[in-house]
Amino acid sequence: MKLTAAAVAALLTTPAVAFTVPNASFQSRTALNAVSKKDSYDITLLPGDGIGPEITTATTKVLKSLTDRCGFTLNLKEALIGGAAIDACNDPFPDESLEQCRNSDSVLLACIGGYKWDKNPRELRPETGLLKMRKEMELFANLRPAKVLEQLIDASTLKREVVEGVDVMVVRELTGDVYFGEPKGIDTLESGERVGYNNMIYKESEIERIARVAGDVASKRRGELCSIDKANVLDVSQLWKDVVTDVISKDFPDVKLSHMYVDNAAMQLIRWPKQFDTIVCGNIFGDILSDEASMLVGSLGMLPSASIGSEGPGVFEPCHGSAPDIAGQDKANPLAMILSAAMMLRYDLDRAAEADLLESAVEAVLDQGVRTADIKQEGDGCKLVGCVEMGEVVAKLVETMDMVSV
Ligand code: NAD
Repeated sequence: MKLTAAAVAALLTTPAVAFTVPNASFQSRTALNAVSKKDSYDITLLPGDGIGPEITTATTKVLKSLTDRCGFTLNLKEALIGGAAIDACNDPFPDESLEQCRNSDSVLLACIGGYKWDKNPRELRPETGLLKMRKEMELFANLRPAKVLEQLIDASTLKREVVEGVDVMVVRELTGDVYFGEPKGIDTLESGERVGYNNMIYKESEIERIARVAGDVASKRRGELCSIDKANVLDVSQLWKDVVTDVISKDFPDVKLSHMYVDNAAMQLIRWPKQFDTIVCGNIFGDILSDEASMLVGSLGMLPSASIGSEGPGVFEPCHGSAPDIAGQDKANPLAMILSAAMMLRYDLDRAAEADLLESAVEAVLDQGVRTADIKQEGDGCKLVGCVEMGEVVAKLVETMDMVSV
């Protein structure tokens, strides 16, 4: 397609209202929980591909110990996603799976993908299922904690004194920004030169709702929120900064808000990450900074995440992929999925004490010197275990550990 000079001018002057942005029906959110505390919850389990079924089995075992001990029920019902769904019904996220997820109190996902489907057309790729799920369930907020555990400090590539005690939460907007803004494309100018363009765009309501989630998260942590932008250059960032300031000052007066340019934030995360408590950013800045923050921890097998919407269930999943290189060999580390289940308990099911218990059990298993291969280091004197045994040890600890209060 040739783009005329008039069309280019129109592109540059089209008012923001004409752009397609995801429907951001704003709704006040005073608490993150999808449901209030109750005795029985319906949970959709999405085991997915690769190591997914193995880490799902280990996590299920741990959750059984937890619910037996704490006297509530999780009705775990599996559904298909990713390659497994393509094989079964030629669709990476069938409508039945979506319906089941929507009707659940929460969703726990393992991981998707694998070599087998790598050459499929885009609509039959496992990742397409993941994107469909996020879009259809309107999961606009992604929470990625990066907590450096004392027991695994040497797994980080940074110096001990830099990473010791780091506990950062990155809140990333997930459905807007330059990834979804329109117009977008690659066109050919009259001169024959090609031009590629995407549109960095945020509506006020989209910024408001992510600011509110970040304010809520920060208020439940150390009460410090750093908002990331590039307001010295980008108009969309100026709006971001203004709206975040407005929401936090009005609705979260106890949260201490600061602002930082994204380039400086990228440096500061490596220079002195302990200065951060909660970080809030748009989609593209958050994509980059959340990966950077997760590497402070040093091990993919330990990183949980949560994606939540304005209402309805959230989706909780480890940050890692399906690790096809070790699938089916009992080598996978299930701790990231167990920690994702802890986030589900805290952020969707109003079960903070039970979430604390799961997280304490994970720390205790590391204290006991039990390691899967990905977190074991030469000469550390620790015991090497597989996925099954790791799940069993954590489940046992959940049964027997002291619990502050339930
Ligand atoms: P990956 O995260 O699957 O694996 C990277 C490396 O980390 C591998 O060496 C793997 O063995 C190891 N690893 C990952 N998780 C582990 C765990 N829990 N325990 C022990 N070791 C672990 O990333 P990749 O290799 O780039 O991608 C593999 C597949 O996963 C691809 O098809 C990709 O598209 C998909 N993927 C899915 C998700 C998701 O489900 N959200 C995320 C990223 C990648």
